[in-house]
Amino acid sequence: MRVLVVEDDAELGASLRQALAEAGMLVELCGDGRAAEFLGATETWDAAVLDLGLPGRDGVTVLRHWREQGAAYPVLVLTARTRWGDKRAAFEAGADDYLTKPFLHDEVVMRLRVLQRRAYGRAAPEIAVGGLRLDTAGQRFTLDGRPLALTAQEQRILAHLMHRQGEPVSRSELAEHVYARDLDPDSNTLDVLIGRIRRKLGAPLIHTERGRGWRLAAPDDGTHGDADDPAA
Ligand code: CA
Repeated sequence: MRVLVVEDDAELGASLRQALAEAGMLVELCGDGRAAEFLGATETWDAAVLDLGLPGRDGVTVLRHWREQGAAYPVLVLTARTRWGDKRAAFEAGADDYLTKPFLHDEVVMRLRVLQRRAYGRAAPEIAVGGLRLDTAGQRFTLDGRPLALTAQEQRILAHLMHRQGEPVSRSELAEHVYARDLDPDSNTLDVLIGRIRRKLGAPLIHTERGRGWRLAAPDDGTHGDADDPAA
């Protein structure tokens, strides 16, 4: 999960970045309204955390621009402002959720996970594919009831494939959502990571879709019929 955090308070921004990174998210921190306006409209994000009081451009203007440019990811607005008019302006500009300062960092993490789940059309907090389960609230993976040990990168990849289960996920999409911007999607880094995840899963859940990327599906869900998983 790749998250844009727009916060001009350096201390708060740094602590938020740390809390989100510890929760396994890839975080880009931006402290300026104009820069945020550009970043949010031109790169791929799973969610954004947006402060309203910013230098350069105020948060409501930034958010309105993102939405006008077609950015569809969920946006959690953070602010010290408590007036209803400010909250309403944020919602009218396209905010999905709202937190008033001060707040618990854990609450930001939890709300972002809920927003991401909802963005993929899921209501239940658990996603299951065969014997593999992801508790999206706690970001915990289990395989046949046992905890699955994964690195942060492996977790991001597998979580993204689980949210998009049954559908092919392209190499570039995966790179954009789970990796920092400097990853060349044509490098074999993703292949190596997918290989490691497959070995940890044991069961053939990650299917290679020729020319289209990878698709996560239960072993008996062979509806596409073109899986060439080594174990298939
Ligand atoms: Ca501020």
